[in-house]
Amino acid sequence: MKYLNVKIVTFLIAVTITVVGFAQETELPNVKILATGGTIAGSASSATSGSYEAGQIGIQTMINAVPGIKKLADVSGEQIANVGSQDMTIAIWLKLANRINELLASDDVDGIVITHGTDTQEETAYFLSLVVKSDKPVVLTGSMRSSTSISAEGPLNLYNAVAIASNKEAKGKGVMVSLNDQIHAARDVSKMNTTNVNSFQSPIKGMLGGVFYGRLGFFREPNTKFGSKSKFSVDGVRKLPRVDIIYAYADMSPDLIDVHVKAGAKGIVIAGVGNGNMTDAILNAAKKAYEDHGVIVIRSTRAATGWVLRDNEFKDDKYYTVASGDLNPSKSRILLMLALSEGEKLDTIQNLFYTY
Ligand code: ASP
Repeated sequence: MKYLNVKIVTFLIAVTITVVGFAQETELPNVKILATGGTIAGSASSATSGSYEAGQIGIQTMINAVPGIKKLADVSGEQIANVGSQDMTIAIWLKLANRINELLASDDVDGIVITHGTDTQEETAYFLSLVVKSDKPVVLTGSMRSSTSISAEGPLNLYNAVAIASNKEAKGKGVMVSLNDQIHAARDVSKMNTTNVNSFQSPIKGMLGGVFYGRLGFFREPNTKFGSKSKFSVDGVRKLPRVDIIYAYADMSPDLIDVHVKAGAKGIVIAGVGNGNMTDAILNAAKKAYEDHGVIVIRSTRAATGWVLRDNEFKDDKYYTVASGDLNPSKSRILLMLALSEGEKLDTIQNLFYTY
């Protein structure tokens, strides 16, 4: 009898272990969706009108519009903001970054999706990639067509973003941007077209991976520093130093530099012509801005793709300028703001542009 009881108890323990084990294996990942607005949350009075208002729909309505999303993950939404991303602010970036760091520190959250307007999505993605201290996936998505449009692509983009954020393969890839079945690294991606659903591209390095109705694969690894390896942090940061961007053109006036310095810029990014070029007068104004006010000037480019090389047509050392490498003007601004906020100086900033 005693022997029989031992056998029954052993059997029950085995059943319990199997059931618990099975339950753990089939448990869905937890994905938090942080909504910030954009066209994906936009609505129009007509399904065939290109004119609409961004940031109208709440996150719960967006989640409800995606069939099958709850089979991918345990999703829950949180509204961080509801703006067109042309109105994105550093204050919202800081709020978003702090909330993501808080959520990802918990064992209860496996990944984050951010819904965001497309206009400045690459900026938010790059900023977050430098200050989110986790290797768990963070995926930004949005749409080019509003939620009420004919063939709105937002729901499929959101479905795919949740699939990426739930996938173990996406761990350690940094902050990603996913629209139109593509996965891009935050640092490399740019909005390349004003209206097309295939607007997002990584013109220099190419896509990170692809996603098709939730099935996904990666083609390469991002090759710069980000996430837990990044030296930048927003812990206790309430604002960032002012950095402005000046767009270069033929025969531009050098007093533009003085205007920005007077307005309080601590750094200036010049979207130069070609390989980060600009007139002699602007170069001399940049030199003076550094000598007189310690303002750091970055040479980036207005060209859509390509490197800005140090000491190419002229010597950066002579003018105290920094070459942006393959970082576009708006992302160069973000890196410079974070660098200045950490107290970095001219002699270390060039290296940051090679590293991040
Ligand atoms: N202006 C919109 C935004 O960035 C465009 C979009 O989301 O596609 O919020």
